[in-house]
Amino acid sequence: MSNVVKIREVGLRDGLQLIKTNLSTESKLIWINKQVSAGFTEMEVTSFVPPKLLPQFSDASEIVIKSNKIKKLKPTALILNIKGAIRAIEAGTKKITFVLSASEKHNLSNVNCTTDQSLSMFNEIIQVSKDTKIEVAAAIATSFGCSIQGSVPEIRVLELAKEMASKGACEINLADTVGYANPKQVKALFGKLKNQIGNVPMAAHFHDTRGMGLANVVAALQEGVRRFDSTMAGLGGCPFAPGASGNIATEDCVYLLESLGFNTSVNVDKLLELRRYLTDLLPNEKLEGRLGVAGTAINFKKKLL
Ligand code: ZN
Repeated sequence: MSNVVKIREVGLRDGLQLIKTNLSTESKLIWINKQVSAGFTEMEVTSFVPPKLLPQFSDASEIVIKSNKIKKLKPTALILNIKGAIRAIEAGTKKITFVLSASEKHNLSNVNCTTDQSLSMFNEIIQVSKDTKIEVAAAIATSFGCSIQGSVPEIRVLELAKEMASKGACEINLADTVGYANPKQVKALFGKLKNQIGNVPMAAHFHDTRGMGLANVVAALQEGVRRFDSTMAGLGGCPFAPGASGNIATEDCVYLLESLGFNTSVNVDKLLELRRYLTDLLPNEKLEGRLGVAGTAINFKKKLL
């Protein structure tokens, strides 16, 4: 199995959802450029949600247009409905991630419609995207449990995944929106998922709400997952899911993967430099992650790009 792992930075989307600081477009672009110079080729740079709901993303189109000019970067964006998809396509987004929730109650709270209605919308988005070169990834929120509904049946996650993979999703991403997953559950669900979606790549999106994030990464790796979402300094959380908190920290995740012998093509020192930039940029926010505090160990083999 491949030892190449792709980490997608989602700090400029998930990471900005719960913070109070409103980042300027210029600061976001500095962040993006620094992350690309550390070796990142895929970043979720924004979200095409109504700016009234989340003003952090009112510059979504501008961020995509400017990110498209950055060499080696594939900017991606999150969308929740057809309106968002059309805005993303018009801005020239290369890849969109459509999110629906396996928890009926979270889907209603997040996007105000049932999961089946979101699923029909996914099919519509696939049709709309057919005439473009845009890739459509599918993410299933609350795949491991929901703070509104409680437990989420595995079978529901698997049927949604199978349906969206068969309709043309370029990737199936299982998201632990409120940090309920544990490694045993992660192994079980991804173990079943790979038999349901053929050659469509699996991806994982973990929040570190209960300190299980990196352990869950290891469990997912064992089942063949080679794509992970994470956020610099562990920022993040869904504003429509009570109890949500930050994602796994990108710098910690890269450090873990490289220590295990996986190839992320990321320069950890440059990531720590970026973290220092974020510390100055977000003085009133609580930054998470251990590596930013401790630094790398003396026996860590530094990667030179
Ligand atoms: Zn998230």
